Amino acid sequence: MQIGSMKRPERVAVIGVGILGSSVGWNLTRHGVKVVFIDSGQPGEGVTNWSFSWVNASNKTARKSYFDLNVASMAAYRELARIIGPDSWWYPHGHLRWADDPAAEAKLLETAELLASWDYRVEVRTGAEVRRRLEPALALPDEVPVVFYPDEAWVHGRHLVSRLVGLAVAAGAEHRFGTDVRDIGARGDGAIQTVVLSDGSCLDVDVVVNAAGPSASHVAGLVARHLPMRWEPGAVTRIDCAQVPVHRPMHAPHIEIRPDGDTSVALHSREIDALIDAGEDPAELARLLRESARRVVPELGNSRITQTRVSNRPIPADGFPSVGAVPSVPGYYEAVTHSGITLGPIIGRLLAAEILRGKRDQMLADFRPERFFP
Ligand SMILES: Cc1cc2nc3c(=O)[nH]c(=O)nc-3n(C[C@H](O)[C@H](O)[C@H](O)COP(=O)(O)OP(=O)(O)OC[C@H]3O[C@@H](n4cnc5c(N)ncnc54)[C@H](O)[C@@H]3O)c2cc1C
Repeated sequence: MQIGSMKRPERVAVIGVGILGSSVGWNLTRHGVKVVFIDSGQPGEGVTNWSFSWVNASNKTARKSYFDLNVASMAAYRELARIIGPDSWWYPHGHLRWADDPAAEAKLLETAELLASWDYRVEVRTGAEVRRRLEPALALPDEVPVVFYPDEAWVHGRHLVSRLVGLAVAAGAEHRFGTDVRDIGARGDGAIQTVVLSDGSCLDVDVVVNAAGPSASHVAGLVARHLPMRWEPGAVTRIDCAQVPVHRPMHAPHIEIRPDGDTSVALHSREIDALIDAGEDPAELARLLRESARRVVPELGNSRITQTRVSNRPIPADGFPSVGAVPSVPGYYEAVTHSGITLGPIIGRLLAAEILRGKRDQMLADFRPERFFP
């Protein structure tokens, strides 16, 4: 579907340079659009750097259109790795999941069956096979069924953002880092005209992309739009290890574990996230995460905790992405989503096409911003 007669944008301000902003900005720059990246901090250091960073569609079965969008993004990642090279950010070695109680195990196998019926690649192995062929360091029962999703991956978000921004800047994009967007100005007819930064500068732009992650609701407020978002914080801890004992992300019972480069492992757990609102100290959350990880990978027990951060997930109120134009504010676009590590490449590509040509892709039909306060 096409929106009216589109004029090619003169200059696009991308507000927020995490996985979403960098993907949109890089795609626009590739098509010769002038982009200015703006971030209050440094690129890739928001939630994108504090994510479990698992690229998947197996956890996205709640709605078929959402699953399809995630599958499309997994394909977009493979293409991105071909275009820009996979070094230091792309780790496509699959994902493992198993359970330790009969109800959770039955649910896991039922989901695996559903996914297979949707042509998603899934293999069911035993604990013994997994230890022999994939992950020798795991302590798990020999007979436990382990679901292996070979097409899933993890991404080093900060490295990928830095690569995309670097390529865009080499192609002419500008950047303003370490400065907040304080205001967004509009012409008499309501169309976007300027962004005002906390360093006092004012930039002339005709398009803004709100990719401000957990602060997206605040940025939406600058154009008098109400974008309702959830409060759903999560804690990620990094631990140091001389040799990383796991090769891929995994959902073990009570704990998620993945490699995080050559000397580090990242840990997360929804069960431990539940303690955040009770006021638990991040150092204690980190200790609990390491303790749970030790039960699955004994050699992690002695690892040093290096960094822990609690971040809010950027989740629009109904749990689904908010992507595209907001027709009541000409020139204003949103790129706000949970699972943004997975969805960054497809949202970047589709939103750039929409900004450039007014092309509203059917794949985003269920995720349009105007479903909130049209
Ligand atoms: C614990 C946890 C686990 C997760 N696990 C996964 C997972 O396994 N897989 C997955 O796909 N997703 C996961 N996610 C979600 C995923 O991390 C996010 O959806 C994604 O990183 C969001 O990227 P972003 O670019 O929108 O936000 P960010 O990376 O936060 O970038 C937004 C940027 O906007 C900037 N900003 C904000 N306000 C302003 C302003 N006024 N002016 C200028 N700049 C501004 C910030 O400085 C920031 O750099 C997880 C999230 C959490 C918290």
